[in-house]
Amino acid sequence: MTPMQQDTVDAYVRHGMSPFFRLPPLDLERLGHEAYRGCDVALLGVPYDGGTTYRSGSRLAPYHIRRVSALVSSFHPTHRIDVFEALKVRDCGNIMTPPFSAAGTRECVTTEIAAVLEAGAIPFVVGGDHTVSLPVLRALAAQHGPVAVCHVDAHFDTSGDEAYGERYHHGTPIKNAIDEGLIAPGKLYQIGLRGPWNAGDDDGVVERFGSLRWTADALAAVGCAIAARRIVEHVGDTPLYLSFDIDAVDPAFAPGTGSPIPGGLTSREAMALLRGLAGVNLCGMDLVEVTPMLDHADVTCLLAAHLLYEGLALAALPRA
Ligand code: MN
Ligand code: MN
Repeated sequence: MTPMQQDTVDAYVRHGMSPFFRLPPLDLERLGHEAYRGCDVALLGVPYDGGTTYRSGSRLAPYHIRRVSALVSSFHPTHRIDVFEALKVRDCGNIMTPPFSAAGTRECVTTEIAAVLEAGAIPFVVGGDHTVSLPVLRALAAQHGPVAVCHVDAHFDTSGDEAYGERYHHGTPIKNAIDEGLIAPGKLYQIGLRGPWNAGDDDGVVERFGSLRWTADALAAVGCAIAARRIVEHVGDTPLYLSFDIDAVDPAFAPGTGSPIPGGLTSREAMALLRGLAGVNLCGMDLVEVTPMLDHADVTCLLAAHLLYEGLALAALPRA
């Protein structure tokens, strides 16, 4: 086995360390940003949850998802592709952020993701809470121009500064990304929305911007394959960023999250949705809002690992 690929299960059991997916860790400590060069995908944790409004703890997700991701093998039976052979993916560790500074955290994330992009790698970010998407999108838009965004979430994440006058928290990344011109006009896709609104105009921001949306109910009615196909056709060649808030999934399947809402996607639907996006020009992904201390039997962390794997498979596939 070449060092491109996953470590063997035997070797993993022997050394007992658990980088994402048993992948070789990157020596950023020694090599600095040059280490990203030659990677197809850079997997990075952002252990920050200072933007959480309710139950915090998602800062611990990168550690726990690393641990359970050791169980995920390489060959994708639906896409018929060996993901970690087709794609050079590295565990690039966690982005060091100042835990007491939200603004400083955003700067650190944008700087690091810009370095990943400069090296020609695709960033995959494991939060942390949903505030991490905005600084990632800033770096992506600086590189690609405005990108398409597939936002899988129970919530719109288009709040303003209603909460304590704070413009940046985990309920605001989509509004800020729209306001900053980071999302390609009309190319916002939101899936999994549900639950009571604060007011009758909660959909106002995305309605004015222009987006395709599937509530959790609509997705169940239409089917994941058809919704995904609609996105693939609509997005065309525009680079697509996938932002996956684990609370899109029903709390029965993903209890380990801070702001759960009943009536969400099943695990199977969530994975089928991502599989259906085969052929898109994926420019990055985040997986956010996993809160391991609220999880049971690792079910949420394990789902998160498999969703990241589905995202990596999309990056590994040839373009349509
Ligand atoms: Mn959410
Ligand atoms: Mn969210």
